[in-house]
Amino acid sequence: MRFISQVIEPRQVEIWFKKIRPVSLADSTLTVEVPSQFFCEYLESAFLDVIKASLKKELGAAARLVYVIRPVQSQQAMSYPQGPGDPPVNKSISVSTWQPSGNPGPFVFPGITKVQVNPRLNPVYSFENFVVGDCNRLAANAAENIAGAPGKTPFNPLFIFGGPGLGKTHVAQAAGLSIKKQFPDLVVLYVTGNEFKTQYMDAVHVRNKLTDFLAYYMKIDVLIVDDIQDLVGQGNQTAFFNIFNHLHQNGKQLILTSDRAPAELQNFEERLLSRFKWGLSVELYAPDHATRLEMLKERAFREGVQISDEVLEYLATRIKTNFRELEGALISIMASATMSHKDVSVEEAARISEKIVGEEEVSITIDKIQSIVCDYFGITREALLSTTRKRQIVQARQIAMYLSRKLIDNISLATIGSETGGKNHATVLHACNTVSDLCSTDRLFKKDVAGIEAMLTRTNR
Ligand code: ADP
Ligand code: MG
Repeated sequence: MRFISQVIEPRQVEIWFKKIRPVSLADSTLTVEVPSQFFCEYLESAFLDVIKASLKKELGAAARLVYVIRPVQSQQAMSYPQGPGDPPVNKSISVSTWQPSGNPGPFVFPGITKVQVNPRLNPVYSFENFVVGDCNRLAANAAENIAGAPGKTPFNPLFIFGGPGLGKTHVAQAAGLSIKKQFPDLVVLYVTGNEFKTQYMDAVHVRNKLTDFLAYYMKIDVLIVDDIQDLVGQGNQTAFFNIFNHLHQNGKQLILTSDRAPAELQNFEERLLSRFKWGLSVELYAPDHATRLEMLKERAFREGVQISDEVLEYLATRIKTNFRELEGALISIMASATMSHKDVSVEEAARISEKIVGEEEVSITIDKIQSIVCDYFGITREALLSTTRKRQIVQARQIAMYLSRKLIDNISLATIGSETGGKNHATVLHACNTVSDLCSTDRLFKKDVAGIEAMLTRTNR
């Protein structure tokens, strides 16, 4: 703590470090309690280096940190409008472990005895935390089905595919977690296509232990391979083919995920592709509005952070792509709420989501610009489009031309001119130059222009 106070601003220490409670210290493993999953993710993303350094300094090179989430207060649970399933009351889960010495390989090469495998499942990716909607119902049902009878349903392999952030990893892990809970003796292993590849290379080229590698995988009861599209390369595909056959023949369960359908996987051996189609392939789609909103509510509730319905509704409307982006926006908003100790406004939510999904698409037309300019100066559209040289009207007309050029992509000077009562392009160019010159010399004029521009961009929110 002393070390941390020296390198981190006092305000940050107050917000992020004072809320951590020590739970236990055994050997070199320090267990601490933190208020929420989000809190723990934030700590790791913002202060990992400092935490690492200070732990190593105090506990030595083998230092290890384990987080435990503080149980949710029951009064927060009560304020949740329509909770799916059981509210997470008084449930303490350990969500993330961090090992400074690097993540050890997921497997120990086995002897003849029963394998000891760390399934490498994240307890957060459970079915309880998975919001089901039309976009993922089939995948969720299939995953729950196989979790109830691994290797004994026709869904073998279960092949889940879809774009990024749609929940492939979550649903695959949820199946693994549920299996581990119902059948604790089954050997479950989660591995990514990339990890499999690296382990294979290591087994073959470094250790010269391909047989051990294969033997290890053949002892698994439930094998989850995430992002199988990364499993390119002949040697490891052959190894995987053998493992697949062995497991399948012995009634073991396979769960595979991919960013595309089996038919679209390139650089894959045909015999593997045909096996991927043996069981059930299910696609995950982008979530609809109701599912997005439900996910946000569920997540904010789970983290124990109060965010207004208005803000959640805004996010659900604004971010349509996938769960990961929704989650990213929510995490920033929760950070903001936690740090400022006050409610987050819709304006702030708009700023945060803009960073994630870019500016909202605006459809500003010349017509809209002209009508707002006329309103602003209290003049008629006829006057604006006329050839009148009255100063106030000339100025309004010039501002309308200038804003048309500034706010409408790829519009030509000629088009602006013809839409402004048939002026030529030189007149439009002159108008644009006059307005920008005036903006740099006349403060009040600049304020008018900025005010109109703000009205235009705001009406498109
Ligand atoms: P993918 O593997 O398809 O890229 P992930 O499974 O990693 O996507 O999901 C991205 C994030 O969104 C994860 O944090 C996950 O928990 C969350 N998420 C995805 N689907 C859901 C869902 N249906 N309900 C709640 N959270 C979800
Ligand atoms: Mg994934």
